[in-house]
Amino acid sequence: MPERFPASLQQKIEDRLRYYEDLGIRLFYTDRGPGGASFTGLEAAASAPSTAPVFEESALPKPVPKPAPAKVAPVAGHPPLVAPPSGPSLFEGTDKIKDDTLLKIREDLGECTRCKLHKGRNKIVFGDGNPKAQLVFVGEGPGADEDAQGLPFVGRAGKLLTQMIEAMGLQRQDVYICNVVKCRPPENRAPEPDEVAACSPLLMRQIDSIHPKVIVCLGATAAKTILNTTRGISQFRGEWLEWRGHKLMATYHPAYLLRNPPAKADVWKDLQKVMAELGLQLPKKSKS
Ligand code: SF4
Repeated sequence: MPERFPASLQQKIEDRLRYYEDLGIRLFYTDRGPGGASFTGLEAAASAPSTAPVFEESALPKPVPKPAPAKVAPVAGHPPLVAPPSGPSLFEGTDKIKDDTLLKIREDLGECTRCKLHKGRNKIVFGDGNPKAQLVFVGEGPGADEDAQGLPFVGRAGKLLTQMIEAMGLQRQDVYICNVVKCRPPENRAPEPDEVAACSPLLMRQIDSIHPKVIVCLGATAAKTILNTTRGISQFRGEWLEWRGHKLMATYHPAYLLRNPPAKADVWKDLQKVMAELGLQLPKKSKS
């Protein structure tokens, strides 16, 4: 079979497709009509102006006055937790631990070496925010800025997440933010299954301890880990799901929005549903 692209271009295309896959974007073509391929999902992103402002209130779509009642679809409960490759697990996270606290979980974690991600990390990025938050955001894993500071979502994507939170009328300290894995994967690659298996029980303990009303999964890795599903995030993004007594919404990762600003409109719709669930109003504009 003849090669369609030079190897270097093919590699670039594969890398880019892997990036989209990590973000849960799998369907690019649904129909090939007479005029050529038809795109879904990314069509709007490709055609819309790339100068859309970032989560400034004036730039956001108008809120829906009375959102429709949230649709709740049952999802299988807890992922099967796989024991770490070596040593006894401190993550007894399959069942809720009585009186567990974030402090105790952090102590149990210690200077964790339960997966190979510990080799390249500078700082464990445990999580940050209100230990009694009504709203928890879960991302994939730390990047370079997070690894340096030991705090989640402090880089470019983190600034966008902060703007998203503020657009909801909240502050970062009102919510809790964490990731599926607590150590930075090399080259910002997606965490591998053994790394997710080793670290995710810790995430489950964090969520159980906080007991939020709503969990927002940012991107495919968080959604697939918590829901224990192989379904692409595009199949359930923006839908209310239920997980261990919490309402759960999966939406796009802020890193995806940095590359695809038009997708912010979808995320804003999702966040408006979360606001309605939490009884939040849009902040009123001050008259000047
Ligand atoms: S990613 Fe999680 S399990 Fe792996 S070394 Fe870091 S804290 Fe431990």
